[in-house]
Amino acid sequence: MADHAFNIQLQSSWQRELAQSFTSPQALADYLQLPADWVTAHESARSLFPMRVPKPFAALMEPGNTQDPLLLQVLPQSDEFAQVPGYSTDPLDEKNASQIPGLLHKYKSRVLVIFRGGCAVNCRYCFRRHFPYQEHHISKSDLDHMCDYIAQHPDINEVILSGGDPLMASDAHVVDALHRFTALAQIRRVRIHTRLPVVIPQRLTSDLGDALSSLPVPVTMVLHINHAHEVSTELSDFVAQWRQRGIHFLNQSVLLKAINDSLDAQIALHEAVFRAGILPYYLHQLDPVSGAAHFAVDDAKALKLHQQMQSQLPGFLVPTLVRELAGEPNKTPLR
Ligand SMILES: *Cc1c(COP(=O)(O)O)cnc(C)c1O
Ligand code: SF4
Repeated sequence: MADHAFNIQLQSSWQRELAQSFTSPQALADYLQLPADWVTAHESARSLFPMRVPKPFAALMEPGNTQDPLLLQVLPQSDEFAQVPGYSTDPLDEKNASQIPGLLHKYKSRVLVIFRGGCAVNCRYCFRRHFPYQEHHISKSDLDHMCDYIAQHPDINEVILSGGDPLMASDAHVVDALHRFTALAQIRRVRIHTRLPVVIPQRLTSDLGDALSSLPVPVTMVLHINHAHEVSTELSDFVAQWRQRGIHFLNQSVLLKAINDSLDAQIALHEAVFRAGILPYYLHQLDPVSGAAHFAVDDAKALKLHQQMQSQLPGFLVPTLVRELAGEPNKTPLR
């Protein structure tokens, strides 16, 4: 991993795209023709969590619309300074859930690997916005320790690469790690939890698709799409190519006030996801992380919305409405 600078001309198109992301609210405002004074009023929230927005994602936003549902997910907002009781910097108590560095074993049969810190897009509502692992990488010896731990826990049958975003890593790094994990006979399937292909669809390279499809167990990609406008033609095309290789696609989203908390927005989202060959999986209630309280939708409203979705969509297009609670053996369905 030390050869980044040397590899400049060997970068793939997604890495070039990543390097050209918007990191300043002013530059994004110029691109979208937003009122400059409106952006300036919010800009200081960058100090809480840097802004990062790849161009292909910005291209899906409506020019001139300060309330665009994609823009609101990624633009720093002065509301993030609000101190709200019940909101903390580590709402899931992950600091105490890690048996060995980079591995979270909270649910009996599956482990989550914090494969790579940092993301292609910084979502303002993210529960990991306060985590110190922006530059975190998994080394060969970390992988050894993880494989030892898994071998000692025969109940584990699935490995989930997460982050940050695991697809920030190189193809070789992802594929090597998955070869290591799937060499353990107890591992029946692997998952990759990623938002990167949503914001830079070219990340779904054919080389990586080929390598994943040659693993000895099925691979499921769990994307993170919150709004129908995020389902671009490019994303649909890449997903179709990967599905031809036998790779499964699911979607999880977060219920976000003023972004996707209406029945119309939810129906449009799941219809769009299905058209792209992706099935809805989870709809998450927001984790109570400081700086994100303005995105919260109360439980009563969330449940009502979920009931309405059930009456208007086939069962297989209704995601499970869940919340993650520290100490629980699985994600907790709302009721
Ligand atoms: C969400 C999560 C999983 C995966 O849960 P599923 O219900 O299987 O999707 C596994 N481990 C941890 C720590 C998680 O947070
Ligand atoms: S991509 Fe996922 S982990 Fe990364 S900032 Fe967004 S919500 Fe958080």
